[in-house]
Amino acid sequence: ATTRTPLMAGNWKMNLDHTEAIATVQKLAWILKDAKHDYSAVEVAVLPPFTSLRSVQTLVDADKLEIRYGAQDLSQHTSGAYTGEISAPMLVRLGCTYVVVGHSERREYHAESDELVAAKVAVALEHGLAPILCVGEGLDVRKAGDQVSYTLAQLDAALAGVAQEKVSDVVVAYEPVWAIGTGEVATPEDAQEVCGAIRARLAELYDDETAGAVRVLYGGSVKSGNVAQIMAQPDVDGALVGGASLDPEEFARIVRYQ
Ligand code: PEP
Repeated sequence: ATTRTPLMAGNWKMNLDHTEAIATVQKLAWILKDAKHDYSAVEVAVLPPFTSLRSVQTLVDADKLEIRYGAQDLSQHTSGAYTGEISAPMLVRLGCTYVVVGHSERREYHAESDELVAAKVAVALEHGLAPILCVGEGLDVRKAGDQVSYTLAQLDAALAGVAQEKVSDVVVAYEPVWAIGTGEVATPEDAQEVCGAIRARLAELYDDETAGAVRVLYGGSVKSGNVAQIMAQPDVDGALVGGASLDPEEFARIVRYQ
């Protein structure tokens, strides 16, 4: 993972209203400033609920913070009669760098199909947002030993139609569903097995150089106590952090894992 800048991204899920979001980002920024964090060595991003994005944008712009941010989902449409939806251009106007696509909670609770996930990846890329594409198997698949083929099928489906010149903007997050919010972290070897397979598939679909440029994150119960071992794996370029990202002190420890 030497040429890829690691990314630590905090997925807040449906937590922290806009006032709490400001306090959390301010505290995170202070801790990282105190620690003289080098953002070019490890990139830091937060992924708040839609309702907090404008507040985070205002704070980041006013204080010239190097923390990046993004949304947790987007519509596959760019505008129109889609009540309740948020479009890619709206997120771009809010200064988002990233948008999570295909999180397992959306696949499961909102029945998001591989086709919908692919459409969302495409619309994000078209508008200059970097999709954090989530893939990963459930417990039944893991028990059957089919985690690699299952996850690669999700990857293939999501990237169908993504051109070579666009794919290096994609961040892939391998999130085994059985490890999300359960406290059960995958072993570093489990993470490497699938993250390595994802990179090998990217090389097959595109080429070695492209595969070498795409960041592959691990997600699932990452904490300050387990992040270093996971980051030591050659094909793991960062972490998508849920619960542990809500506490700025703990998230800062994760960012500063080295
Ligand atoms: C997530 O939701 O992306 C996640 C990895 O959650 P947690 O860290 O809480 O397992």
